[in-house]
Amino acid sequence: MRIAVLRETARGERRVALTPDGVARLVKQGHEVGVERGAGEAAGFLDGAFEAAGGVARERAAALDGAEAILAVQRPEDALLEALPAGALLVGLLQPYQAGHALRRLAERGVHAMAMERVPRTTRAQAMDALSSQASLAGYKAALLGAAALPRILPMMTTAAGTLAPAKAFVVGAGVAGLQAIATARRLGAVVSAFDVRPVVKEQVQSLGASFVEVPAVAADGAGGYAKELGASEQERVLAAVGAHLREVDLVVTTAQVPGRPAPRLVTAAMLASMRAGSVLVDLAAETGGNCEVTRAGETVRAGGVTVIGAVDLPSRVPLHASQLYGRNLSALLAHLAPQGTLALDPADEIAGAMLVVHAGKVVA
Ligand code: NAD
Repeated sequence: MRIAVLRETARGERRVALTPDGVARLVKQGHEVGVERGAGEAAGFLDGAFEAAGGVARERAAALDGAEAILAVQRPEDALLEALPAGALLVGLLQPYQAGHALRRLAERGVHAMAMERVPRTTRAQAMDALSSQASLAGYKAALLGAAALPRILPMMTTAAGTLAPAKAFVVGAGVAGLQAIATARRLGAVVSAFDVRPVVKEQVQSLGASFVEVPAVAADGAGGYAKELGASEQERVLAAVGAHLREVDLVVTTAQVPGRPAPRLVTAAMLASMRAGSVLVDLAAETGGNCEVTRAGETVRAGGVTVIGAVDLPSRVPLHASQLYGRNLSALLAHLAPQGTLALDPADEIAGAMLVVHAGKVVA
């Protein structure tokens, strides 16, 4: 199979879809990998490293020429969609719900497309789960960003001038990103607590050395490790408990999400006003509306004495490892789609079927 790796066109994107070790793996399986010149530069991988791994660094048109699978991190800009060869498969985080016109254009041009957001959360597809691999890194980076924005240090420190108490961190939403935020804040020396509407995660939170904030009679387990939306009275109890806890903490990381819904609102402006001056909230749900009322996607705002960070590009801020994990997700997907080396797109397959958003000239998202 001929595989092309694109240089990302989205503004500020530093990841690359495949790293040199991923190229080496695919070349060993008999595939030919063309990498657009400069594709890995922002993530720390120069063209020479891809060539040493058995890939070929080419200008864009040459990399795309004859390509059967085209790998990207984000959806390529519109002009680039016009250059993709008919019959090829484009794979990436294509944001299918916001990309109607791009998907229609791909369908018209006879390009197939798979959205990495649509990998099913099943055991079989775990190795392909890019949302989880990227969310883990986002949780880690969120704790670091928050720590760096605080006017205090996180660990307890004993000095000749006296002892500094450890900071208190609170993580709301203990899924993939939340658990990494908890682990990172703990490693930095904070005293960590966490809350989630799925009581099953309590043990995981405690095993990371954090305490679990209990809210009686709230249990919103949904399917596949996701939460369900809360009813009005549950939401009221959650807000009261979160609000009371916020007054005592220095660093908050919010990661609550319910798939397909706007981010649950868990921190109001009034709750922020009750927090300690100098405290910091990092809102990972900024892109879907924010868990905090004042969050602005892609911006850092001050609300009273509190800094609210709405960064939406956290995986791209650790581009080397984010690319490495994303590339492994893609390699696992290609191995699934082409077990004998030839690409087969079977809409009846539980993984391919869930991920295909454009197939055989039709938008199927
Ligand atoms: P996840 O589904 O694994 O975890 C979300 C958790 O939120 C679940 O454990 C769920 O039970 C919990 N939850 C739902 N409603 C809640 C509520 N009302 N109160 C408390 N907890 C609640 O998701 P994830 O993969 O960890 O991603 C978390 C968020 O981070 C998502 O919004 C995702 O889009 C975002 N994200 C942001 C970036 C970035 O750069 N900012 C990068 C990656 C992911």
